[in-house]
Amino acid sequence: MNAAVDDMNRIGEARHDEPMSRHTSWRVGGPADLYFRPRGKAELQAILRSLPADTPITWIGLGSNLLVRDGGIRGAVIATAELDRSIERLDETHVRAGAGATCARVARKCVEWKLAPAAFLAGIPGTIGGALRMNAGAFGGETWDRVESVETIDRAGKLRVRPRADFEVGYRRVRIPAEEWFIAAKFAFEVDETAAPEAIKSLLAKRAETQPIGAASCGSVFKNPAGEAAGRLIEQAGLKGHRIGGATVSDKHANFILNDGTASAADIELLIEHIKAEVERVSGVTLETEVLIVGERDGGEP
Ligand SMILES: Cc1cc2nc3c(=O)[nH]c(=O)nc-3n(C[C@H](O)[C@H](O)[C@H](O)COP(=O)(O)OP(=O)(O)OC[C@H]3O[C@@H](n4cnc5c(N)ncnc54)[C@H](O)[C@@H]3O)c2cc1C
Repeated sequence: MNAAVDDMNRIGEARHDEPMSRHTSWRVGGPADLYFRPRGKAELQAILRSLPADTPITWIGLGSNLLVRDGGIRGAVIATAELDRSIERLDETHVRAGAGATCARVARKCVEWKLAPAAFLAGIPGTIGGALRMNAGAFGGETWDRVESVETIDRAGKLRVRPRADFEVGYRRVRIPAEEWFIAAKFAFEVDETAAPEAIKSLLAKRAETQPIGAASCGSVFKNPAGEAAGRLIEQAGLKGHRIGGATVSDKHANFILNDGTASAADIELLIEHIKAEVERVSGVTLETEVLIVGERDGGEP
């Protein structure tokens, strides 16, 4: 990030009309009215308390699972990238990770500490906060498998520690109390003397063989229906390579939509709708998006 942008980013200060395309892995998305990047809990509390009660609040980690529409986000966006990025070994098997820590760093640290199973987190290109919200998973592991408790904050700035039992967790789904967000999680792992960085490398290499890693995408667009792979259904519908504007169904993995650098959020959303309709027509299965769609269409339509 350059110095000018850093200057705009002083304590508690909002950026106005911040293009969300800068903060999403699809590289699309219109402006957020207010964009905050708090550096720590005290600053976050001050921001939350300063916002009028009717200002909508949207949280964002690394934007790797978010389609922000071209008209942007009304209200305030809270970005967690600098909130709490700490990763701490609390005792032999317990690790606390801040919501802003990337899953990749947590995976590497845990492997260094000979703790497992955590290597799977290396496959998730987001933050711990986003992974908690999504119950993100890869290579057979899911984020909440090892969560013992989480730290949260609500709209009034009140901090809580909640046990895992407070949350109903499913496949890429977690029920969270309204207007409460994650600050950190405490994980319980097991000591595994065989844990080694090579395991992460080989998991990522395996993934690069089947997925278009490095292209502007949001990973899997649709959830896998029970007993099926969404990618297989999309391929079966003949949609590999299908294009709308600058958005294309990946030839490598049909559950990925790629932005060739010219796509709008509307292109991507139209392609999502087209895929859903075609898969339903061909195989009778209704796909559900894993990707979350937020914001207004161009022209202010929700
Ligand atoms: C190439 C690629 C591969 C991917 N592979 C996988 C995969 O294998 N498995 C998988 O599960 N996902 C995968 N994803 C999707 C994505 O990485 C995950 O969903 C990830 O957990 C999102 O984290 P994030 O920080 O980017 O969240 P964002 O996309 O920024 O946000 C996602 C949601 O979480 C909310 N949120 C963010 N932070 C917080 C917080 N602190 N408290 C409360 N809510 C919050 C946001 O409001 C939003 O609703 C992939 C994405 C890409 C681009």
